[in-house]
Amino acid sequence: MSRRFLFAEQKVPRYTSYPTAPHFQAKVGPTIYSDWLSQIPADATLSLYVHVPFCTSLCIYCGCHTQVARRKDPLREYVSLLGRELELVMQRTSVRKIARIHWGGGTPSAIGGAALAEIMEQLARLADITAVREHAIELDPRHVRPELVHTLAALGINRVSLGVQTFAAHVQAAMGRVQPFATVRRAIDRLRQAGIDNFNFDLMYGLPRQTTTDLRETIDLAVGLNPQRLALFGYAHVPWFRPRQRLINEADLPGVTERFDQMNTARQHLYRHGFEPIGLDHFALPSDELAVAAREHRLHRNFQGYTDDGSAVLIGLGSSSIGRVPQGFVQNAADVVEYTRRITSNQLATVRGIALTDDDRARGKVIEELMCYLRTNLPPSSNLLDAPAQETLAALQHEGLVHHDGRLIIVPETARPLVRLVAAAFDAYLPNNAARHSAAV
Ligand code: SF4
Repeated sequence: MSRRFLFAEQKVPRYTSYPTAPHFQAKVGPTIYSDWLSQIPADATLSLYVHVPFCTSLCIYCGCHTQVARRKDPLREYVSLLGRELELVMQRTSVRKIARIHWGGGTPSAIGGAALAEIMEQLARLADITAVREHAIELDPRHVRPELVHTLAALGINRVSLGVQTFAAHVQAAMGRVQPFATVRRAIDRLRQAGIDNFNFDLMYGLPRQTTTDLRETIDLAVGLNPQRLALFGYAHVPWFRPRQRLINEADLPGVTERFDQMNTARQHLYRHGFEPIGLDHFALPSDELAVAAREHRLHRNFQGYTDDGSAVLIGLGSSSIGRVPQGFVQNAADVVEYTRRITSNQLATVRGIALTDDDRARGKVIEELMCYLRTNLPPSSNLLDAPAQETLAALQHEGLVHHDGRLIIVPETARPLVRLVAAAFDAYLPNNAARHSAAV
C-alpha cells in the first residue's frame, strides 16, 4: 500500500472552524456569550442558522445528531423554544439586519410548514429580514409535499439542499435509506414550479456495496436534474459514536484503496460534467455564485461547508447549533432536554465555546485559506512555521502532497482531497487531541 493511502487513513478534522469544536471549553457559557453579543456593532449584519434535530425516520448510515419525533407535542415545544431563544438573543444585541438564513438538521421541515412560518413571523417582528440575500433549507426529498413547497416559496426560501447520496438501489438498501430517483425528481419539479431554483445536492462515496460504476451513474442522474452545486462526502463509519451504524454490514464497506478510487472517479466525472472544484469537497458550475466567489477570493468555510457569506456574525439557534461572533465560537447544549431546561429558565443555551486568541486567529486564517484555495502565503512576521509544522510539511512534501517554499505553501491539485492533512500542520490543538475525527478520505 502506498504511503499516500496511509496518509489518507489519518484522522484529521474537517476544519469547518478553527479551533475545532472538540476544543471548545465549558467556561464559555451564557454570561460570556451575552457579553459578546452586546459588543457587536449595531451596523453589523447577521447570518442565522436554525437547527432542527428531528427527522421523520432515522437512516442507519446517518452520522447526524437527530431523533424521530413520533408525536406532535415535542415538535410544538421545540418550535416555541426556538422562538424564545430568538427573543433571548435579540434582547442581548442591537444588531438587527439579517443577511442570510439557513435551516439545517435533521430535517428542518419535520416541524411543518406552519411552524416554519411562525418562526419567520417572529423573526420579522424582532429583526430586519427585508434584505435577506440567501434563505436556504435542507430538505429530505422523500417529504417534499405540495403544501410544504407552497409555504417555502411564500417564506422566500431561495436555495434548497437535498441529501441525494446515491441513486443505486442496492446501495440505498444497504445504507438504510430508500429514495428512488423518481422521488428526487418529483421533489425538484415541485420546487422549481414554485420558483425555487437553486439546488445543492449531497452525494456520497464509500457507502456499503457501492462501486465506481454506481457513482458514475448517480452523478449522471444527479447532473441531469440541473443542480448548480454538489458536495461529495465520504461515508464515515463511526459506530462507536453513532450506534445505529452497527446495522451496516462492515464487510460491505469499501477499503481505503477502493474509497480512494471511488472519490477520484467521482471527482473526475464531475469535472467532465463541467463542475469546478470548490475547496475540499464541493463542486459548482462556473456561473454559480460559489464558483465566482472562489475566483474572486471571497470564499469562506463554515459549519455548513463552503460559502460566500462574509458576515462576521453567525447566530446559531436550536440544540447543538454553533455560532460565531468576532470574539469567538459558542455552542448550544446538544441534548434537547438540556437545551429545553436552559431556554425555559430564560437563559441562553450556550454550554461550550472558545474565546479566540491572536494565535487562533492567525492559524484560523491560514487553515481557512488552505481549505478554500489550496494555498497560503504566511506573513513575514508569522511564527506559525514552527518545528512541528515544518516536520509535518516536510513529510507531506516528500509524498507530493504539498509544495512548501519558504512562506508560500501550495497544495497541488492532485492532493486537493487531502488538503486537510496540510491544514492540520498548523493546528496547535491537534497533538493533544484525544477526540476521534473521520479519515482524510
Ligand atoms: S440522513 Fe437526513 S433524514 Fe436520514 S436520519 Fe440523517 S438527517 Fe435524518
